[in-house]
Amino acid sequence: MKNISAVLAVILVCLFWSLLANAQDVDIYKKYKEPIGQYIQIYQNKDPFLSMQSAYDAFKNGHFSQSNDSVLNFGIGAKPVWLAFHVRNNTHDTVLRNLLFETSWLDKIDVYYLKRNQLVNSYHIGDSLLFSQRPFSHRFFVTEHDFETGDTIVLIRVETDDAMVIPIYFLTAEEIVNRSILQAYSYGLIYGVILALVAYNFMLHIGLRTGPYLFYSLYLLLFLLLNAAYTGHGYQWLWPDSPRWQQWSNPVLMVACTLSGFAFALNFLNIKITRPRIYQLIIVCCLSFSVLALIAVLADEFVTTLFISLFFIFYFYIFTVILGVVSLQTENRFAQYFLLASIFTICGGIITANALWGFIPFNWLTYRAAEIGMVADAILLALALAERFNITQSDKLKAEKIADIDLLTNLNTRRAFYKLVQPMWAVSLRNRSYTSVIILDIDDFKLLNDNYGHPLGDRVLAQLAETIQEEARSSDILTRWGGEEFLIFLPETGLADAIAIADRMRKRIMAIQITIDKEKKLSFTASFGVATIQNINVSLNELIAQADRQLYNAKKKGRNCVYPNLSDQKQYQ
Ligand code: GH3
Ligand code: MG
Ligand code: MG
Repeated sequence: MKNISAVLAVILVCLFWSLLANAQDVDIYKKYKEPIGQYIQIYQNKDPFLSMQSAYDAFKNGHFSQSNDSVLNFGIGAKPVWLAFHVRNNTHDTVLRNLLFETSWLDKIDVYYLKRNQLVNSYHIGDSLLFSQRPFSHRFFVTEHDFETGDTIVLIRVETDDAMVIPIYFLTAEEIVNRSILQAYSYGLIYGVILALVAYNFMLHIGLRTGPYLFYSLYLLLFLLLNAAYTGHGYQWLWPDSPRWQQWSNPVLMVACTLSGFAFALNFLNIKITRPRIYQLIIVCCLSFSVLALIAVLADEFVTTLFISLFFIFYFYIFTVILGVVSLQTENRFAQYFLLASIFTICGGIITANALWGFIPFNWLTYRAAEIGMVADAILLALALAERFNITQSDKLKAEKIADIDLLTNLNTRRAFYKLVQPMWAVSLRNRSYTSVIILDIDDFKLLNDNYGHPLGDRVLAQLAETIQEEARSSDILTRWGGEEFLIFLPETGLADAIAIADRMRKRIMAIQITIDKEKKLSFTASFGVATIQNINVSLNELIAQADRQLYNAKKKGRNCVYPNLSDQKQYQ
């Protein structure tokens, strides 16, 4: 029993020892799916120009300290840093392995491979060099080395004004390709969605000529460019010959993107009209930030520009929430969409910014949170803009309908009359068929109004409209022509039929009884003018004028009659 425990203790100590020893070394045949930060030792010397040899000596003398994080992160504006780790090849073969630095903006990276204190390979990369000078055409930085049997020390110097985030992967060439393909798919999807929304909003702007669509499409386009800049896609595909723009693109595009975001928010929520004070405040702040950024750019102060642009974005985040809340209070129905969409962008942006700044762990989710938030934002706002478009359309249709229908009588207005009758008139002209028009006017309506009041006059009008509608055929077009004057257009109808219809209407109107109070009931009459034409060289307005003349005759004849009446009709045929 004692023996067994002793053996177990020895095994455990050996295991522990081997684990401890291996914790420092990268094993050439192991697969490292995560960045290898825990295997790396760090050294930050006061002297920014420390030579490779001095750094190597410092490493050998144990001045480097062990990193605990898998992704090394020194924040923004950090001093140059030296990194070192051992790679152990326990086989007899030479093995080729790559290093992948998965941040695109590091200015200068020097990589040295040392074997038995001899420099055997080195790389000088970073985005301060032309893209074409990279040993591997990749949006991130890649090195390659044949590791011989035994121990190789990899010594790295990194210098950058941007966020010094250094996720270093130790991979085979195939693993790098697979990683790139997977990322390329996801970026293809994100860029595809955003580009489609850029085009969609731009088209809406062309079609509708309203501000928010243009600003939103600009905002998305600038976000896309900004994203391309900090993911390295921009340098690889859009501006490979401009290392200077590669350096400055991030802060400059951040400011431009934020400005267009403000322009969209102000326009979309109509802040100039609803909250002029806030509008002025935002304009003044935007101008101040832009001027400050411009001065910093002209003074070649990169880190200052970066901080200004980051503060500007922070300010934008705060104000989009304020604008959203304020607009909710003014009952802007799009404010909810705006607020929700903004919260997505803000959460994404804050997560990514904090990951870059080193406050939270840097991984693919925290690094890409800004993109995910933006895509959610863009989709939500596309929906809001579509709904806005829908509402404008249906408001327009409603307005048109209101203009076509008389609210008191529910009959067509004059405007609708011409719209409806024009095509029918053309058909009857072609067919040379009879067409008739009846105009009727309530008798002594002014008196009725004066005696019983306007509201009762309105009831009379509504009741009359209902009655003539019941008497008319479905193909007839009934119109409230003027105050108490109605016009009925009767296609394919000769004079005799038209007179008959008019007379039926007259009788039905006579029979209407409007209740004034319990005992009193009111009746009224109307006079009718009828005109018919077999359409040859007569215009619609001439026919209406004829009917109007007949109405005048009916009034002259003593009211409550149709003119011409059935006995007079021969002379008019
Ligand atoms: P006549 O028999 O010669 O047609 O006499 P009248 O009093 O009916 O004709 P007149 O044209 O002198 O008066 C028409 C009146 O109709 C005057 C106006 O106040 C009234 N009126 C017009 N539109 C409306 C309306 O929508 N509601 C009410 N209650 N009255 C209206
Ligand atoms: Mg009248
Ligand atoms: Mg009248």
